[in-house]
Amino acid sequence: IESRLPHVGTTIFTVMSRLAQECGAINLSQGFPDFNAEDLLFERVAHWMRAGHNQYAPMAGTQALRAAIAAKVEALYGTAYDPEHEITVTAGATQALFTAVTSCVHPGDEVIVFEPVYDSYVPAIELAGGKVVRMRLAAPDYRPDWDAVAAAIGPRTRMIMINTPHNPTATVWTRDDLDRLAALVRGTGIVVVADEVYEHIVFDGAAHASCAAHSELAQRSLVVSSFGKTYHITGWKVGYVLAPRELMAEFRKVHQFNVFTVNTPVQLALADYMADASRHLGLAAFYQAKRDFFRAALAASRFELLPSHGTYFQLARYAGISDLGDAAFCEHLTRAVGVAAIPVSAFFADGRDEHVIRFCFAKNEATLAAACARLAAL
Ligand code: PMP
Ligand code: GLN
Repeated sequence: IESRLPHVGTTIFTVMSRLAQECGAINLSQGFPDFNAEDLLFERVAHWMRAGHNQYAPMAGTQALRAAIAAKVEALYGTAYDPEHEITVTAGATQALFTAVTSCVHPGDEVIVFEPVYDSYVPAIELAGGKVVRMRLAAPDYRPDWDAVAAAIGPRTRMIMINTPHNPTATVWTRDDLDRLAALVRGTGIVVVADEVYEHIVFDGAAHASCAAHSELAQRSLVVSSFGKTYHITGWKVGYVLAPRELMAEFRKVHQFNVFTVNTPVQLALADYMADASRHLGLAAFYQAKRDFFRAALAASRFELLPSHGTYFQLARYAGISDLGDAAFCEHLTRAVGVAAIPVSAFFADGRDEHVIRFCFAKNEATLAAACARLAAL
């Protein structure tokens, strides 16, 4: 069969987690917590299962969950999304992103992404027949160059995909960045996809700049989030999309044939859980403490730590330790040192290797301490 994705292998997250498991290494590669979510969530899932809510939910998501999302988003970002027409529950952010691209991008359309770029974006664009236009985020601060974006926008530009807080660079875009973006797309038909899965994980008192809070951008944006990051349940694979009615109508045309709907008892449980509007409030401080613990434990090591302003990731340069390429270095770390990490070259379509690797610090302190003891000995 002629491949639709000839340059794509197995995602780096699967590769590294599998290798970590094979080697018995501490897995700081794929992003997921090694601690459990709150018991209340499990009780609510069991409750709704026993109560017989085990059949298809409405296509766009249960009314209770969409109402809970609408209330939360309005309280946080000041924008009232209509649960009936402007909110859809998805099978994680991954499906939301894929469906967003599929529903808007025509063959030959250009889609602007920022590299390093989360690994699912480019294949989604290519499968839709779109042309990927890459903007470089340059180390060590990885800020977007808006003049370069302005120069890249042309008559074929259909979509701009952004991600803040950003995986893997741990940068956080500002309201000023969104204003620059808004000025560039004003008067065009360009759709913005805003991947905001780490919206609550922003450090040092900074605020998350959401496209949902930007009245002009919100009019043309599909804003994506994920319960996996916010409630420590990455394996539940539930997220959502916010978009104005017309855009959402197109999104749902694809969503209904892509997944149709997302698992019912979990949606009902999440709606119950969200009734306490303070659930996400401690999340930034919780992860900031982990970031600080992890950085302090590596401060005297030969890794050069780059800033981490948000997400649960920490980038590190290892030039003081090894000349290996980043993929080879991560393999060596996993096999010989017993700590798995992600090579950042996996986030560049051309495999660009800046000798930077990504650690996930969404782990118990004991896990981080054990990993850092090994890493600091290098
Ligand atoms: N976007 C980014 C930037 C992510 O880091 C992730 C997951 N780690 C996703 C999307 C996918 O989220 P989900 O697991 O909800 O599909
Ligand atoms: N987004 C997670 C990460 O960046 C992994 C999710 C996945 O494995 N697809 O590590």
